[in-house]
Amino acid sequence: MNTNRKILFIVALMLIGLAVATITNVALNFRDYGYSNAIEKSKMTAEIVRDGLTAHMVNGIMDKRKFFLANITDLKDVQSLWIVRSDKVVAQHGPGLENEQPRDAIDKKVIKEGITIQDVHEDAKNALLRVTIPYIATAYGNTNCLECHKAKEGDVLGAISMEFNINDIRQTGAVTIAKIFAINVIFIIIALWVTNYYFKPYMKLFENLQQGIKRARTGDFTFRFTTTLKDAGSEVAEQMNTLFQKMEETFGNIKHDLSTFVSRSNLSNSDPLNTAGMIIKELSDVYKFKKTIELDNTKEEIYDRFIYVLKEKFHFDHFAFYEVDKQSKTRRLIYITDHTSFCTPIIDQDATECRAYRTNSDIYSTDFPNVCQNCSVHDKEYTCIPFNINNDLSLTLSYSAKETGTIERLNQTLPSIKNYFEAAKAVIESRTLMDKLRDSSLRDGATKLYNRRFMEEFIDKSAEQALRSNISYSILMIDIDYFKMVNDTYGHDSGDVVIKSLAEILQAAVRKADLPIRYGGEEFLIFLHNTTKEGALTVAEKIRTQFAAKKYQFGNNTVEKTLSIGIAHFPSDAESIWKVIKFADIALYEAKNSGRNRVIEFEAKMFKSGNEF
Ligand code: GH3
Ligand code: MG
Ligand code: MG
Repeated sequence: MNTNRKILFIVALMLIGLAVATITNVALNFRDYGYSNAIEKSKMTAEIVRDGLTAHMVNGIMDKRKFFLANITDLKDVQSLWIVRSDKVVAQHGPGLENEQPRDAIDKKVIKEGITIQDVHEDAKNALLRVTIPYIATAYGNTNCLECHKAKEGDVLGAISMEFNINDIRQTGAVTIAKIFAINVIFIIIALWVTNYYFKPYMKLFENLQQGIKRARTGDFTFRFTTTLKDAGSEVAEQMNTLFQKMEETFGNIKHDLSTFVSRSNLSNSDPLNTAGMIIKELSDVYKFKKTIELDNTKEEIYDRFIYVLKEKFHFDHFAFYEVDKQSKTRRLIYITDHTSFCTPIIDQDATECRAYRTNSDIYSTDFPNVCQNCSVHDKEYTCIPFNINNDLSLTLSYSAKETGTIERLNQTLPSIKNYFEAAKAVIESRTLMDKLRDSSLRDGATKLYNRRFMEEFIDKSAEQALRSNISYSILMIDIDYFKMVNDTYGHDSGDVVIKSLAEILQAAVRKADLPIRYGGEEFLIFLHNTTKEGALTVAEKIRTQFAAKKYQFGNNTVEKTLSIGIAHFPSDAESIWKVIKFADIALYEAKNSGRNRVIEFEAKMFKSGNEF
């Protein structure tokens, strides 16, 4: 039943209830009224008969009472009337007329008990009210009964019975009820029509809304709402149409556009809002992951975060994570959940034995039993995913589950997992380079600090990423004051001793993420990673004072040296690291010119025009 019909049904039910209550009330009132009217009449008649009979008795014309009673019986509505004598009166005055004997049980009971009895006889045709009233002997009424009757106060002398025809009342009642019924029926019909007239458009709009919202829940916002209502009703329809149009524009292609970012299993078809929320959450998680690993120093830290994501976000129970060196074709285990290996040991020596690595495609045991010959997981389903980083490096993720349902659930999360891999690719590549550079020949043999070549490569690879990731560098350019004098006075070897000792001071003064570099002969550069300007000044001052405090013994001479430092900041002074190095050099020049043994920070005013890069 639709809502409109429901409302009409409820209204009809209420009105019918009201009508039934009214009709019942009228019917009962009519009946009561009819009875009480007849009873009043019977009491009056009883009084008249008693007084009439007393008058007949006093006047000695008791034998004429028949006519008197016959006249009374002729009264309207009185069907029949008779009087009966009690035993006491019979004993004193004889049995009376033949019909003055008790006629039935009611007469006998009234004579015996002195009570009034009413009785109703109703059938389809007739309605009779029988009333029998006792005459009680008393000395205190209008007439002193005890003067003529040998009786005591309260004795029953006789009774009068009357039968009233109450057909008229019944008929009038029935007609009245019929009229009320007819009025009610007309009223109910009008009320239902009016209700229907006013409610129907609202109900139609309501059903329209229901239909539209039902479709919207499946992602279909093409429904448009119509109404014949004015004012509030049409406003609701209009606003819903505007809302749906906006939703259609916003969510129309959202699944199609964004499904590539998240795992397909998570894209429910039923609720596009939910889907959009999930996609945004997924992208935000990947973005946060990327921001976090960009600040990680080493590849190992990034791998650790991967492992955390696989365990905590994707709930992988048994998995292994490998790194393949593509040059040597060897494979290294990074992490395994328990010691249950996924592969035969041969793969560690020869990575091309790994089907996922060799074919560069995802391997699913659910696609084909025993799909990989070198897999040692026989009692479980497994999946192996290769992930290419660059020409030197590839990663492999293997995971397994006992139940096919579980591995399928894990497989469905692969698009998401690949998003994480993709986000990490550039960072892993850059950290790989860092690792390589750290331990390569790009170091200065005498001081073991990075050399100028390293610096050039580092700048080429890292500048752009540093800008994207909001990484800053404070660059310190350091030069020993009057160093030539050491060489000239104490010899070149003594000069080397001073250079090495400065290198040690520099190495000790910086953190792991900072880069001290031997830039030239006795010139050094330091890249301080994500350091405030105050922090950079503090480090520079520390280096300057530590070096100045150092004493060198050359023969009999104790020698003390000083150094000067120029500082500039990337990217606040310039968005090119090379420019910032130049600025640090200008600041160093200022330090030299203003007396040496000092730290000077670059200022724009030091930069003379014509000094172009
Ligand atoms: P300033 O205060 O202006 O820097 O004066 P300075 O004498 O230090 O001048 P400069 O920085 O130009 O001196 C550089 C000298 O450092 C020149 C070169 O002989 C010497 N030098 C460069 N590399 C080495 C090295 O590896 N060992 C030694 N012993 N000396 C070096
Ligand atoms: Mg120099
Ligand atoms: Mg110098």
